[in-house]
Amino acid sequence: MLAAMRALPPRVDVVELRLDLMESVELERLCSGKDRPVIATNRPVRAGGGSTAPEKARLAVLRRAAELGADFVDVEADAAADLGALPAGTGRIISHHDYESTPPDLDGLLSRLLSAGPDVAKLAVTARDVTDVAPVLRLLERRARQIPLIAVSMGEAGMASRVLAAKFGAFLSYASRAAGAEAAAGQVPVADMLGMYRFHRIGPATALYGVVAKPVAHSMSPAVHNAAFDALGLDAVYLPFKVTDVRAFLEGFEPFDLRGLSVTIPHKEAMLALVDDAEDLAARIGAVNTVTIRHGRRYGCNTDVGAALGAVERAVRRAGMEPLSDRRVLILGAGGAARAIAYGLRAKTGGLTVANRTVERARRLGAELGAEACSLDEMPAVEPDVLVNCTSVGMWPRVEESPVPRNMLRPGMVVFDCVYNPVRTRLLREAEAAGAVTVTGLEWFLDQAAAQCELWTGRPAPRKAMEQALAARLG
Ligand code: NAP
Repeated sequence: MLAAMRALPPRVDVVELRLDLMESVELERLCSGKDRPVIATNRPVRAGGGSTAPEKARLAVLRRAAELGADFVDVEADAAADLGALPAGTGRIISHHDYESTPPDLDGLLSRLLSAGPDVAKLAVTARDVTDVAPVLRLLERRARQIPLIAVSMGEAGMASRVLAAKFGAFLSYASRAAGAEAAAGQVPVADMLGMYRFHRIGPATALYGVVAKPVAHSMSPAVHNAAFDALGLDAVYLPFKVTDVRAFLEGFEPFDLRGLSVTIPHKEAMLALVDDAEDLAARIGAVNTVTIRHGRRYGCNTDVGAALGAVERAVRRAGMEPLSDRRVLILGAGGAARAIAYGLRAKTGGLTVANRTVERARRLGAELGAEACSLDEMPAVEPDVLVNCTSVGMWPRVEESPVPRNMLRPGMVVFDCVYNPVRTRLLREAEAAGAVTVTGLEWFLDQAAAQCELWTGRPAPRKAMEQALAARLG
């Protein structure tokens, strides 16, 4: 535990010693060897911790820790009276944990904690849905500048409360020392808390942005957009939100300076109905991937379409195949990505064909866009100059699959794979080997993110910083 503490960055202000999770506790060594203030916690099993010791012995460990110089002790509200006196200078954190839900009366709970006379009051409740975080943030917003207060929503859905604690003046926020070493569900690794989310720079005026998705855990958008805000020197933070009900999410979070959202699977269509204004393109395609919120109004856009078109046009130029209007394009797939790309390319090519496993879907999309449609078996006959894979074939974990037979790949053609996990798919590797010009799904992802950043900030996107953050995230 001491080694782990000393390995933490200096900007970690205080370390919680979870004595209840240690097999044997050497309090003297821990307290004399600490390199920064510590909180001694010895949570009993009944309050979600690991201590099975009799109550008297459990509390005696906390008292001893205080005598040895622990800066704070954390005691559960129902045991606070039994803890007895602590040496002057030891802060008493009186806590209440709810591992099931977010109770409706947080103010009432806080009043009960305050009646026990804490130096710091701590409420840790569980968010079953992202909307459960809003009442916890409102409590912080109302009370944390008057009393030393910790309020946290545990669980994956509660992650935003851990970062936004800084915006609302919470006494502290907990982070894990590393991914996989969380002491409670939803803790953010300290490296991300300080690095990607810039916790120490978040304050009352920090603007909030985020990505609305389900699932969201593997989204690369937080890394890319936080790096952009940092490079632009903006007081803004971008968070991942795992959202089920988009309307309820917007109503819950808009009061917290929410200025913009990236929208992805499965909410792009639903978001169109929730914006006050939508650009023509987003309305026509029926999908909003970007929301900008100003003066209480939501404005919906689609940056996927323009970004995909830009990536194809650049590749066609690189391949010396300009103009695009002379080129035959084949789009594989008829889902969300295919729709965005087909919209971008229609009327710009010398012929557009949509091929899909479920040929009916290809026909419907083709009819809507004035494009040809065919089955996967028929696609080699198209002999495209530009081939865009918009299926998920080749995506992790089935990385050895390719959506097209190798003999369709020719020197000089453009091959664009929307899949970005992995970046170099089997399709792209085979296309390169055949002498084709390739475009990765990452290029598209970065271009649409850069366009979002420009919409939100009105400034040129810092592409280099965004690219570096993405590369670091992808290892
Ligand atoms: P989607 O709406 O679910 O569509 C999936 C498409 O893949 C459908 O056309 C489906 O055909 C086809 N498909 C799935 N499994 C197949 C298989 N075994 N053989 C042949 N076809 C198959 O998904 P999406 O949102 O369009 O995403 C598609 C891919 O693009 C994903 O890999 C996604 O990660 C990637 N993407 C990348 C970006 C980026 O920024 N680079 C953005 C969006 C999406 P059926 O109609 O027959 O089911």
